[in-house]
Amino acid sequence: MAKKYYDDDADLSLLQNRKVAVIGYGSQGHAHSLSLRDSGVDVRIGLAEGSKSKVKAEAEGLRVVTVAEAAQEADLIMILVPDQYQAQVFSESIEPHLEEGNAIFFAHGFNIRYEFIKAPAGIDVAMVAPKGPGHVVRREFEAGRGVPALVAVEKDESGQAKDLALAYAKGVGGTRAGVIETTFTEETETDLFGEQAVLCGGASHLVQAGFEVLTEAGYQPEIAYFEVLHELKLIVDLMVEGGLAKQRWSISDTAEFGDYVSGPRVIDARVKENMQEVLKEVQDGTFAKRFMDDQAAGAPEFKKLREQEEAHPIEKTGRELRGMFSWLAESDDDYTEGTA
Ligand code: NAD
Ligand code: MG
Ligand code: MG
Ligand code: MG
Ligand code: MG
Ligand code: MG
Repeated sequence: MAKKYYDDDADLSLLQNRKVAVIGYGSQGHAHSLSLRDSGVDVRIGLAEGSKSKVKAEAEGLRVVTVAEAAQEADLIMILVPDQYQAQVFSESIEPHLEEGNAIFFAHGFNIRYEFIKAPAGIDVAMVAPKGPGHVVRREFEAGRGVPALVAVEKDESGQAKDLALAYAKGVGGTRAGVIETTFTEETETDLFGEQAVLCGGASHLVQAGFEVLTEAGYQPEIAYFEVLHELKLIVDLMVEGGLAKQRWSISDTAEFGDYVSGPRVIDARVKENMQEVLKEVQDGTFAKRFMDDQAAGAPEFKKLREQEEAHPIEKTGRELRGMFSWLAESDDDYTEGTA
């Protein structure tokens, strides 16, 4: 069983004695900086010149400086820019300003695990990764609760790295819910595997395949959409509330029996072997290299795949049908404005 840490295991004063820089003001960045500020921590935000996030952060009363200035001022630097830009931001604007005894923090282990970032000697390297999207992390903090978080220490040069990570987790509300210790390797490999094989890659392609089978067999796309995509949320909500058992308890006996007899025919031994191959490419760095090489070339593969997937017929059916759900209209607008 993983050991869990709560508020009483963390000393916020360790963080209140430090100057903290949060680099980036996106999903995680806004949540961390606002909650740390509310926890009495001295925070500044580091953003690239001309960043659109500057106005938003300043409207919240936060002080915004360049990444280099933030790194210069602070002795704990949390890097919350997208994973593919972190190494460049680090080498150009953070590393030149690091001093012995400083700490660099991450919310995901990607750049450390695959060594796109190598911390110089004398610098602590730790992770505080809330297990939820930034807006939920902030909403729960404001409600007096918290989102569970993972902490990890890659390099402990000060002898304080773990206590500092726990203090940071407390500052963003994580220890209210409970914090679990992991390693950069475990967090990175399981996160990439989970999103590729199950949550994002697995679920998206399962839905597309189901839609294709029904429409190719002559069923109406609108009906297929409801049955293989729309209702997925209802099922997932039940799983999150009470595991697979609660989901199976709630559905009809017909559906439950179908789950047992047909599920293993769809997700068969070959699927598990495919998953093991995906895991191997996560572990040996093949995936990370493919992603970063493509990004370095201007993301041609990424852009081509995104375009191809957006052209799948299920998207057209979905856009038409979601208009029937008045309460979904708002989130669709958010998505098309690109703020999701
Ligand atoms: P994001 O895309 O929401 O925000 C990125 C921020 O970085 C923006 O404010 C942007 O202005 C800024 N930025 C982009 N390029 C920059 C540059 N070159 N220099 C300076 N600033 C730049 O990012 P995110 O989703 O919050 O992800 C940040 C980190 O948190 C990643 O390591 C990610 O894996 C991790 N994480 C994210 C989530 C999540 O829910 N989104 C959850 C857990 C961990
Ligand atoms: Mg994850
Ligand atoms: Mg991830
Ligand atoms: Mg049904
Ligand atoms: Mg039942
Ligand atoms: Mg995105």
